[in-house]
Amino acid sequence: MTRTVYVNGDYLPEEDAKVSIFDRGFLMADGVYEVTSVLGGKLIDFDGHAVRLERSLSELDMVNPTNKEELLEIHRELVSRNGIDEGLVYLQITRGAPGDRDFVFPDPETTAPTIVLFTQNKPGLADSPAAKKGMKVISIEDIRWGRRDIKTVQLLYPSMGKMMAKKAGADDAWMIEDGFVTEGTSNNAYIVKDNRIITRALSNDILHGITRAAVLRFAREAQMEVEERSFTIEEARAADEAFITSASSFVMPVVEIDGTVIGDGVPGKVAPRLREIYLDESRKVAI
Ligand code: PMP
Repeated sequence: MTRTVYVNGDYLPEEDAKVSIFDRGFLMADGVYEVTSVLGGKLIDFDGHAVRLERSLSELDMVNPTNKEELLEIHRELVSRNGIDEGLVYLQITRGAPGDRDFVFPDPETTAPTIVLFTQNKPGLADSPAAKKGMKVISIEDIRWGRRDIKTVQLLYPSMGKMMAKKAGADDAWMIEDGFVTEGTSNNAYIVKDNRIITRALSNDILHGITRAAVLRFAREAQMEVEERSFTIEEARAADEAFITSASSFVMPVVEIDGTVIGDGVPGKVAPRLREIYLDESRKVAI
């Protein structure tokens, strides 16, 4: 079955979907994105993603070509047309195609943003074997720009980080700045020590994860202790547990950091419990 995608108001077979070579997303990574997971054919945390999208656009003085209601409808239509039970919806909005290359932003009156959405079918996303085994991470220097709170499509360094991890026989990389862990290449990073969940506080240094917000809320509701502060990679290597969160991996235990085994080298108690709570609670309110 050919996938149906959405481009600037039209639902099209993927092979017919086209974007200009002058699109600023293509030429300058001048675009923002969101990834929303789908479980049981329903959208997880849709509202959070829609709110963050608005913020990313406004921080870049970009016009929003849509609104929350319309976005929800497009998401649902794509999930339905592509028969997605478990998977993801990817959304990207760029500053559009002014018909030439120029560093100066085009006039939004004459250059409309480009909006593209597509689905990714991922059967077994929730019941992932990786979640039972845990993942291995390495640490790398964080050399990204200073506005990581904006969810831009400038993903070259995170992508290189993932390749460095693969080359080292690991699954992902945690990035370090001034001695402290910022986040994973595509996820927020956490450690657990003496039953306290520790994760970096929100700032421009990290993406404000939608899954992070939900997981911390559920943790507090379950009377778990949460500390929002920076931690070093040495502290992480000496932690009882470590894990990551993201819309596509939910909560995923980390069992090895830079070759050091964490805890018993298998997922501990906290991360699997948080994963279960997150999945249960999110499914209840999925739309
Ligand atoms: N940090 C970075 C750098 C990311 O790319 C992502 C996922 N896109 C996250 C954190 C997690 O955010 P979310 O929970 O909203 O997927």
